[in-house]
Amino acid sequence: MMDIVRSVADLRGRVAGWRRAGLRVGLVPTMGALHRGHLSLVAAAREWGADRVVASVFVNPTQFGPNEDFARYPRQEEQDAALLEGAGCALLFSPTVAAMYPDGFATTVTVSGVADGLCGTVRPGHFAGVATVVTKLLLQALPDVAVFGEKDYQQLAVIRRFVRDLDIPVAVLGAPTLREADGLAMSSRNAYMTAEQRAVAPTLQRVLQLVADGLRAGGAASVLCAQATASLLAAGFGPVDYVEIRDADTLAPVETLDRPVRILAAARLGATRLIDNIGVSPSAG
Ligand code: AMP
Repeated sequence: MMDIVRSVADLRGRVAGWRRAGLRVGLVPTMGALHRGHLSLVAAAREWGADRVVASVFVNPTQFGPNEDFARYPRQEEQDAALLEGAGCALLFSPTVAAMYPDGFATTVTVSGVADGLCGTVRPGHFAGVATVVTKLLLQALPDVAVFGEKDYQQLAVIRRFVRDLDIPVAVLGAPTLREADGLAMSSRNAYMTAEQRAVAPTLQRVLQLVADGLRAGGAASVLCAQATASLLAAGFGPVDYVEIRDADTLAPVETLDRPVRILAAARLGATRLIDNIGVSPSAG
């Protein structure tokens, strides 16, 4: 049976025992409401060589804006625990808000550069909330490897940046986005959508593919992104927060396909905010 621990002391005790036994430990941070995308991160940690995988489920209040979905974010710990156990997870860390942010908590990890622009513009304070909680989780669990999804590509870049900057001794592993059969990126927030919105949602991914085709054909980023925004609005999305093409590593803006790039988009469909991204590289020949 997979155990559930709620205190940092219990988490540390379990991980310390594994380390003494010479085992390598992986960490998969999540906010719960788990789907196959999350479970693929557990598998990726195992494939990396982690002997034991710890998943955390914590709906982190500090990464939600005042008008965002913190209160209605789905919480289903029992189901999540069963899924994690089935995926081969050894331990679930599910702390309370009070355990993570005790009275007097006054520290924030802020990242500049990669955290600016894109979601950083639309969700002020979001990446500081993410960076702070992930720093805490990494220092609490002290894993050998931590796995994050490319689904949240800017978040992954932010995490890579502060792990390097703060000399946190952990390998950061990015894992590919798992999608539904119609191409929609799996997300806990997909459950918010009506049937009608759900039918429109895969357009986001299709539009990204069209931008990729346009780039490969030599098109200019600004033109392709404007066309993509118009297509999303015509399909029923709105507002479109951004469609942008960035350097795959630095997230610096790029205008043509002269290096590996990432096409990233965020748009609202009714009350649901969807994000997605895909990579494109110049062809070798
Ligand atoms: P969340 O619970 O949404 O905070 O996500 C927890 C982790 O799962 C993050 O590293 C996400 O990038 C990752 N993740 C979310 N959706 C997917 C997906 N469709 N495929 C792969 N990883 C995902």
